[in-house]
Amino acid sequence: MKDIKHFINGSPVGSLESRWFDDINPANGEVIARVAEGGEAEIDQAVSAARAALAGEWGRMPVARRMELLHKVADGINARFEEFLQAECLDTGKPRSMASHIDIPRGAANFKIFADLVKNVPTESFAMDTPDGTGALNYAIRRPKGVIGVISPWNLPLLLMTWKVGPALACGNTVVVKPSEETPHTAALLGEVMNEVGIPKGVYNVVHGFGPGSAGEALTRHPGVDAITFTGETRTGTAIMKACADGIRDVSFELGGKNAAIVFEDADMDKAIEGTLRSAFANCGQVCFGTERVYVHRSRFDEFVERLRQGAEGLRMGWYDDPEVNFGPLISRQHREKVLGYYRKAEEEGATVITGGGVPYMGDAMASGAWIQPTIWTGLPDDSVVVNEEIFGPCCHVRPFDDEDEAIRLANDTPYGLAATFWTESLGRAHRVAPRLEVGLIWVNSWFLRDLRTAFGGSKQSGIGREGGVHGLEFYSELSNVCVKL
Ligand code: NAD
Repeated sequence: MKDIKHFINGSPVGSLESRWFDDINPANGEVIARVAEGGEAEIDQAVSAARAALAGEWGRMPVARRMELLHKVADGINARFEEFLQAECLDTGKPRSMASHIDIPRGAANFKIFADLVKNVPTESFAMDTPDGTGALNYAIRRPKGVIGVISPWNLPLLLMTWKVGPALACGNTVVVKPSEETPHTAALLGEVMNEVGIPKGVYNVVHGFGPGSAGEALTRHPGVDAITFTGETRTGTAIMKACADGIRDVSFELGGKNAAIVFEDADMDKAIEGTLRSAFANCGQVCFGTERVYVHRSRFDEFVERLRQGAEGLRMGWYDDPEVNFGPLISRQHREKVLGYYRKAEEEGATVITGGGVPYMGDAMASGAWIQPTIWTGLPDDSVVVNEEIFGPCCHVRPFDDEDEAIRLANDTPYGLAATFWTESLGRAHRVAPRLEVGLIWVNSWFLRDLRTAFGGSKQSGIGREGGVHGLEFYSELSNVCVKL
């Protein structure tokens, strides 16, 4: 069986304490690799390598050369596109159609976009008067922050990891990555690409393992790590923030959500149905800004529910490389237990199940997979657990509303603030409603349409800070002001 090792100081490294765990294909339950589990010792090695690289060739490298190398990383991923694609699909079970259009191309693009951005972004300067009349010149310079700890989730493994590694390296930092234990594969492959294209040793390090008591916690506690960027659950963010309080280390958090979609009476129903099918069920509902609450104007409610049901029942489940397949399994049996708990809870809380609600039979070969039915409910009270907690599965609750104010109030009625989507053909309404939504990401008549130059992140309990475009540079670099007396 294949071994997936840590990647420290440019070399694959096995588990120092001989601890290994299984990497499982969630489509059929098969073990596809044995993964080294790291702890304090491996994290310490990786952080030392990252600190040494900062002080070495990488730290002294001219910006233009650094950017050239990052472009080569993107090209290196694209040159091994099929290998990355297979690895991602086997780790997650997600359809090839999705990984080949989103995960892998975006994983590569994240290196190019931030390399270009850092090279071109201006900093401020101010000429000032002084009492003696000679004046002074202020100008800002950006320095790398140092060693960045990157902790990433399993839903879009390469894409979300490189979304952090790309800007971190572009700003001149070095990184220690702790990928999700569910999806270790592409982070390891990226180490090979880093070596192939000539990224100096110690710039990109990977230590595999779990969170508490394992590599994740060790990374957050290591005093040699200058800042942590994390994408995952809000509860995990709380634990990481506490660890980072020691040493006053900066954090950037992209956390959970309980995102709403609003379908106004003047919506183009074809677009609203197509968009909601994607936002609720793409990646088996495991997208942070996916929709789990849908509010539909009462005049269009029955029509919407019926058409969404037809769409959900038309999704094609199956093995990832079947070109017809657009719906894969959940990430694991353990996650399926959690999601099925909410399916049961919905019925206890009085939901009408419009479709789904259980586990499909996928044939003997996939009987040990983490398959689940896409599910739509109506009729739940606003204070029900299912309407309020993030489920992170292929399900949504649809509720009618009567006017714009009510729809906005319902959408905002959550401790989360990641994303919202609304559907309207009225230009005035689009601009009126958007600023009233208490979220970081707002889509009007679309979903998951992303320009990587724009800010990305959540408000309330969905995150701290913004990544993307120039906004990420605030986190990945230190701005120092130089004041020169003339
Ligand atoms: P998770 O919080 O369980 O795990 C994420 C990562 O954190 C994993 O690598 C895990 O090993 C590590 N970890 C867990 N506990 C830790 C600890 N105490 N210290 C250090 N590291 C620890 O999240 P997940 O289940 O992998 O991902 C799903 C969650 O991620 C959902 O809540 C989803 O909304 C969120 N998410 C958010 C965004 C966003 O951009 N806002 C994007 C994707 C996923």
